[in-house]
Parts: sequence; C-alpha cells; structure tokens
Amino acid sequence: MMVERLRRIPGLATRENEPLAGRTTLRIGGPARFFCEAGSPKALRDLVGFAREEGIPLLALGKGSNILIPDEGFPGIVVTLGGELLTIAIEGEAVRAGGGASLMSLAIQTRNAGLSGLENLSGIPSTVGGAIRINAGAYGSEIFDVLESITWVSSEGGMEELDAVTVAHGYRWSALMERPGYVVGGVLRLIRGKREEIERRFAEVTAKRKNALPREPNAGSIFKNPPGHFAGKLLEECGLKGLSHGGARISERHANVIVNAGGATAQDVLELMLRMQTAVVERFSIELVPEIEVIRIPAETSRF
Ligand SMILES: Cc1cc2nc3c(=O)[nH]c(=O)nc-3n(C[C@H](O)[C@H](O)[C@H](O)COP(=O)(O)OP(=O)(O)OC[C@H]3O[C@@H](n4cnc5c(N)ncnc54)[C@H](O)[C@@H]3O)c2cc1C
Repeated sequence: MMVERLRRIPGLATRENEPLAGRTTLRIGGPARFFCEAGSPKALRDLVGFAREEGIPLLALGKGSNILIPDEGFPGIVVTLGGELLTIAIEGEAVRAGGGASLMSLAIQTRNAGLSGLENLSGIPSTVGGAIRINAGAYGSEIFDVLESITWVSSEGGMEELDAVTVAHGYRWSALMERPGYVVGGVLRLIRGKREEIERRFAEVTAKRKNALPREPNAGSIFKNPPGHFAGKLLEECGLKGLSHGGARISERHANVIVNAGGATAQDVLELMLRMQTAVVERFSIELVPEIEVIRIPAETSRF
C-alpha cells in the first residue's frame, strides 16, 4: 500500500494529517496529508522518486516564514529537512551548511568564528535552503553575494552541485524558483574580519529589525519592492495601515506587512493582498508582485 511504502523509506520520518499552521510564522494553514522529515539527501531523493511514481504533489517547507498555506491544508506530501541536513561546518573561510539549517544559527556561528558576510542577513527567520532559493537579502546584502555552490536535488531525484555564479539571481529571486527541486545545502565563502566589528554590525541590524517589524505573527514583506519604489511607502500613501479583513490586518508599523491579529485565515490574507494590489494600481498604476509564496491546492490531487 502507498502509505506503507512511504513509511518504509529509510531516513524519513512520516506523519499523517499534520497541522501546518504552527510551522509557519503567520500561524495560518490547514494540515498536510503527509508530513515527512528527510534526514539525508538520500532520504529526500527517495521521497522525490516515490512522489513522482505515485503522482503525489510534494512541497518543501523551511521555517515557514514566507509562505501562505491554504486553509484546507496541503493534500500531498510536505517535506522538511532534518538530521544531517541541519549541519553547519566551518572550514577556514568556507562554510558548508545543510538546507534545513537555520540562517540565524549560521550567522551566529560565523560571527563567533570571526567571519564576516552574514551580518546584514542576521535576524531573517529562514532556513539556508529557503534563503538560497529566493536569494534572501537585507540592508544591501544578499545571500548570493557570499554563495559559492548549491547542492540541488531535482524533481527527478538527481543530485548536483551547482556553481553559484552559473545560477541567475536578482532581487528576491533566483532561477531556482523557476525549476522544481530542492536546495539541500550550500557552501558560502566568507571573509575574516574583526570580531568586534562583526558584533557591532550584528547588534545594529538586530536593533533595526526590532523596530521595523510588528510583534504579531507575520511573514515579513508581503510584496516585493517595485523597481525604484518601496512597496511599504506606496501602501502607506494609500492609507492602508490598520486595514483589516477577518483576523488579518495590515500592520500599523509597516504597511507591507500583514499580521495575524487572531484567528486569521489564508482567505483573509488573500483578500487583504488583493485590496493592497488594487489600491496601488489605482493610485500609482504600479502592480505589486507578491514576495510571499501563496500555495495553491494542486488540481489533480482529489484522490488523497
Ligand atoms: C519577521 C520576518 C522578517 C523577514 N525579513 C526578511 C528579510 O529581511 N529579507 C528577506 O529576504 N526575507 C525576509 N523574510 C522572509 C523569509 O524569511 C525569507 O523569504 C526566507 O528565505 C524564507 O525561508 P523559509 O525557510 O522560511 O522558507 P518557507 O517560508 O518555508 O518556504 C518559502 C518557499 O521556499 C520553498 N522552500 C523552502 N525550503 C526549500 C528548500 N530547501 N528547497 C527548495 N525550496 C524550498 C517553499 O516550498 C516555499 O515555496 C522575513 C520573514 C519574517 C517572518
């Protein structure tokens, strides 16, 4: 039976009907039909092969900090990276990190090792895999600035080492977002710096972030900044701060952030997003593009 085969994949911990809301920073979304933690590249590749054979949709979940899961949940397999895919190894100025490792832990460990390059990214509540996929960035830095290579598992289950310079990337975008597959790790090349300097910048970034973002559950910026503009400023000029729909509200602190003020649904967030896009198109003729990944229920999965 299909479930039995799934459970027998070595290195994979599988649960059924696993709630996902608590695994996202917005605290929104229904359950995953199957939730698997892959403890090694081999376990992930076996899972990818299994999902392909069975025709079951597979969705990667990192720290859930840039994702909107449908209220109905996800009717396929949600996979998260664990075990050896959480490791961080520092060898001189090269740092190898698993795709499931926390970007914050990586920033702290490299800071403590006197390595510079991740200070501006400290505080982004991301996995390394999630950050590489979208080329996460802040305060003028992006992860691709320090990225040397990426370990990639394709949706066919093949594994390859990609040279980062061969992967097209830009603002909150990399070509990896346009091909199905999984970031299982990466190698970063940092530079040796003065420990006090690194610590000072780290503290500065932490303080800035604390003031910029709301305390309620959120997913950071909802829309990307359009070229030459700040999405937050455009939305603020439309007078949208504080606008709410159901349990979702546009933050009073930052007009490009939606918070879950209590009991918000994915539908509430989508409704607000539509109102934000409409207001900005009407006032400025600018189309806002979502930064958050809005997950749709795959059409062909009614049998799960
Ligand atoms: C408070 C707050 C502040 C933030 N600040 C910033 C910021 O300053 N800069 C910034 O760039 N972002 C910021 N973000 C957004 C978010 O943290 C980043 O986009 C982050 O990189 C998402 O990583 P994740 O592991 O949480 O991915 P998730 O949210 O779990 O997933 C996002 C997408 O990536 C896919 N994915 C996840 N892991 C993998 C993987 N290993 N392989 C392939 N696909 C994968 C998922 O399927 C999904 O499509 C912020 C978010 C919050 C909540």
